[in-house]
Amino acid sequence: MKTFAPNSWEARADAHSFYGFTDLPSVERRGMVVLTHGEGPYVIDVHGNRYLDGNAGLWNMVAGFDHPEMAAAAKAQYDRFPGYHSFFGRMSDQTVMLSEKLIEVSPFERGRVFYTNSGSEANDTMVKMLWFLGRAEGKPQRTKILTRKNGYHGVTVVASSMTGKPYNEVFGLPLPGFIHLTCPHYWREGQDGESEADFTARMAQELEDTIAREGADTIAAFVAEPVMGAGGVIPPSDGYFQAVAPILKKHGIPLVADEVICGFGRTGEMWGSQTYGFMPDAIISSKALTAGYFPMGAVILGPDLSDRLQAAVEEIEEFPHGFTASGHPVGCAIALKAIDLIENGLLEQARGLIPQFEAGLNRLAEMDNIGEARGKGLMGALEAVKDKADKTPFDGSLSVSERIANTCTDHGLICRPLGQAIVLCPAFVMTPAQMDEMFERLEVSLKKVFAEVA
Ligand code: PLP
Repeated sequence: MKTFAPNSWEARADAHSFYGFTDLPSVERRGMVVLTHGEGPYVIDVHGNRYLDGNAGLWNMVAGFDHPEMAAAAKAQYDRFPGYHSFFGRMSDQTVMLSEKLIEVSPFERGRVFYTNSGSEANDTMVKMLWFLGRAEGKPQRTKILTRKNGYHGVTVVASSMTGKPYNEVFGLPLPGFIHLTCPHYWREGQDGESEADFTARMAQELEDTIAREGADTIAAFVAEPVMGAGGVIPPSDGYFQAVAPILKKHGIPLVADEVICGFGRTGEMWGSQTYGFMPDAIISSKALTAGYFPMGAVILGPDLSDRLQAAVEEIEEFPHGFTASGHPVGCAIALKAIDLIENGLLEQARGLIPQFEAGLNRLAEMDNIGEARGKGLMGALEAVKDKADKTPFDGSLSVSERIANTCTDHGLICRPLGQAIVLCPAFVMTPAQMDEMFERLEVSLKKVFAEVA
């Protein structure tokens, strides 16, 4: 039953907007939260309600919602040169400077960057590059893409196929040739009596077996988030990347790090791959790349892929791919400012918050109905369980995490339900006092919901 008034913002949103990734029963009961602006890590709705956004928008607004230097960089570039493409031998000076900067801050000694409008498009672009390369190198069969269950890589057709979530079945996806390995989540996937080291070895063996079954020369890449984000904030098991990287190398299969969430400081280092001590062959970037102030994605190619692709493209004299707004000058100016802020203060600020963040998660993990607190850096999740001892989840019909998120909203806190987990991913500009407030509001909400359902 819809309870919102006719002609209210909620009714108007409902009349003409088609919602994606939104729990419709919740919206039906409560209406959309319609926002007008933000202040630091807070967002404010049309009724003047303030919410502390515990997710920094969608993992991306690391500089908060009203950073004056970000807005000024955008305005200056809009005044100077408000838009251009990167086709036909032309691109903006900002695009040139951003590519230089991205290679400088990347783990690569050299390489090249290709721009898109989103993380999904960056993943699609990466796959098209690999398919192109396979054909150019006389290996047209080298098309398969390995990812993991619970991995999230976006929503375009290829990125959805890479994503290891069952909901893509409603579209008849994945496409053939997209293979999802086991999610390296020791807490949930580890077998009785299996140590974490044995679990990691089993994940590595599964990769070896998959390569043997499919044929190494049919596999174009292994694509992985350093920490799975939208799958529920799942860090890899101990030693995971150290175990899989040599196998991929031995078989000549590129390791692509999807750093759309992890990149630019989220895990405490500039890149998630640095946090986990592995060297990818390419990086997929988006989100904090522009601190969320502009839609932009990037494929950052390391030396080997960069050289091979460049050679292959030179053969046919053109790479037939690109978006109207690839390398948009305003987006590039914004990204340059975002990276400047991250390098010169925000990353340190994020690092300073990590101990308090971890302590907050661990304290809430002591609750009877929290089975696991997990995360890395400033991304974390609390997994709700009916029974802590045997990890039994709540009955799906209770929509526990939706209830928690809705109760949080009632208490002025935005946090995201993911499966039966609640996800936190604060802005780097959050103050310690605001972080305390985030955990206090979450605790009140958890207690209320667990009292109702437990
Ligand atoms: N890859 C990862 C790891 C992501 O988390 C996301 C989005 O959350 C994407 C890709 C897709 O990015 P976008 O939503 O910009 O298409």
